[in-house]
Amino acid sequence: MSPEIEKPRVGVFKLSSCAGCQMVLIYHHDYLPEILGAVDIKNFKMARRDNDPEGKFDLALVEGAVTEPEHVKLLKELRPRTKLLVAMGSCACDGGVLSMKNSTPEYQVESTVYTDTSKFTSMKTQPVDDIVKVDAYARGCPVDGPELLELLKSALAGKRPNLSNYSVCMECKVNENPCLYTNNKDACMGPITKGGCGALCPTNGRACRGCRGPHTDANIISYARSVLDREIPGREDLLRRRELAEFAPPNVFPQGRNVIKATEVAVVSTPIGSKKGGSSQ
Ligand code: SF4
Ligand code: SF4
Repeated sequence: MSPEIEKPRVGVFKLSSCAGCQMVLIYHHDYLPEILGAVDIKNFKMARRDNDPEGKFDLALVEGAVTEPEHVKLLKELRPRTKLLVAMGSCACDGGVLSMKNSTPEYQVESTVYTDTSKFTSMKTQPVDDIVKVDAYARGCPVDGPELLELLKSALAGKRPNLSNYSVCMECKVNENPCLYTNNKDACMGPITKGGCGALCPTNGRACRGCRGPHTDANIISYARSVLDREIPGREDLLRRRELAEFAPPNVFPQGRNVIKATEVAVVSTPIGSKKGGSSQ
């Protein structure tokens, strides 16, 4: 009898999140039999009763943003015993919607939600790679199923995953959508957002709101100036772009972050139609 081959040990871990990315993983289980059959899932609290978060992992999928000291502890303990660590979803990759709280003092955030805040030690939202090294990013809010599949297959095969390397605009053009931005319909974030979703929102008539995080080569300064100079609905969304710049890795948008912060006041205090806000940089 041939010796049994040890399957790769996989763990799914959750930080602060809505658990939507884990739901995608569960939803796609029908399409993942070859993968699920090929691995030994040791920790996946949302999907199984018996879990073992200890020991070594060949692959760890981390969902959620860091918002508590316990998350920092978990990541620092997990990283040295994990071969490949994947940030799963926008919260883990960039901080996601949880980053909205970062412009508000933490005690104010806590007391908005809880009457007794004495038991809470929440902290500013951070992406996983602010704390530990991340080997691969599965983007999206929630994560894209086929993209996650490609990532898992590649991890098991030990090859580089074939993921998109272009902006949402590129996919929008491929879909032959009329452009919301150039047609002055909305301050769509497609030009600065990482593609891979197939331009899901613009294809369905809605502007991209950047859930897949900033595209690596995005010219956010030019984009911010362009939005300020236009009479376009959703211009006040620059506030949201400020959030996006806020949670982007510091080496990606340092200038963009400053430009956006500097123009924020002008944007919110300048009525649409006035050009005053565009000259403030
Ligand atoms: S609608 Fe948005 S994503 Fe599509 S081309 Fe225009 S700016 Fe880009
Ligand atoms: S179009 Fe933008 S907001 Fe919509 S799914 Fe894609 S990246 Fe996310």
